[in-house]
Amino acid sequence: MATARPDDPGALAFAGEERELHDSIRRHYDGLIDLYEELWGEHIHHGYWDPGVPAGRHAAQARMVDEVAAFGGLARECRVADLGCGIGATGIHLAGKLGCRVDGVTLSVAQVRRGRQKVRQAGAVGQVEFVLADALRTPLAEGSYDVVWSLESCELMPDKLAFLREGLRLLKPGGQLVVATWCSRDAALTPQETTLLRRIYRDFAAAYVLPLDAYRTLCGEAGFEAIDTADWTEQARATWNLSVDIVKPFVRNASFIWRLVREKGTDTFRFLNSVPLMKRAYDQGLMHYGVFRARRPAA
Ligand code: SAH
Repeated sequence: MATARPDDPGALAFAGEERELHDSIRRHYDGLIDLYEELWGEHIHHGYWDPGVPAGRHAAQARMVDEVAAFGGLARECRVADLGCGIGATGIHLAGKLGCRVDGVTLSVAQVRRGRQKVRQAGAVGQVEFVLADALRTPLAEGSYDVVWSLESCELMPDKLAFLREGLRLLKPGGQLVVATWCSRDAALTPQETTLLRRIYRDFAAAYVLPLDAYRTLCGEAGFEAIDTADWTEQARATWNLSVDIVKPFVRNASFIWRLVREKGTDTFRFLNSVPLMKRAYDQGLMHYGVFRARRPAA
């Protein structure tokens, strides 16, 4: 159990300033946009594997979208608010497969630009749109979405309850929230685990994670009903074995690193370095992959 100082909120709370967090999120996603796409591909999230069954990383990332969509019970042609939308890969996928209309929200202007370009290339203009805004206070219309979707953005939100309340506000009565997010194993962390999580937060510009169970309580507090959770750690963990292999040649190439640091600043180096940290957090059983769904009560 962590022996935190009385003034130390530990690793399962947000300790900083929201403005600084947003600045570092913008620096992270604006600055690393090319590298993310080059190394990770268009989806900025874990893959989903049947444990022990090999599959390519990009196929596993697309499968994750399908699995979250199935878990969230997305119907054909539903309207989706994608809070923390990256470069729109989810929106384009859902528009193509299910005919959804998707409004994506991101803090990164570079992601909005790249997303719009990708939507044009995919022939999905009018089906997938982007808004540069804070997901905690979006300009999107109240009560106008069948689904509020968050795929690996909740860990970046400094106020989880405000995030869930904004989700509730956007949903039509009876609408569905579905979230996939990094979680801690539980709330009883050792000092070493706290330190590891904090390094991960810094390197990925994340706010903090919570145990999956905590979201059950928070969803209830926000006013949701029919709350369900599932732990997909075993389905997602292969992401980090593959990622470590992907970044290894880059990290070992000193001239590549220096060029990147000169061009993009030290955040880039941190980002590459953070990949083995995530693998360690999974290997130690500290990091879990959680999904939850909840319904806005019918009027
Ligand atoms: N869901 C996407 C991207 C995940 S990366 C995918 O799976 O590909 C995290 C995303 O959350 C980034 O687009 C980042 O800009 C966004 N984000 C983080 N905090 C946010 C906030 N407060 N408001 C809006 N977007 C935010």
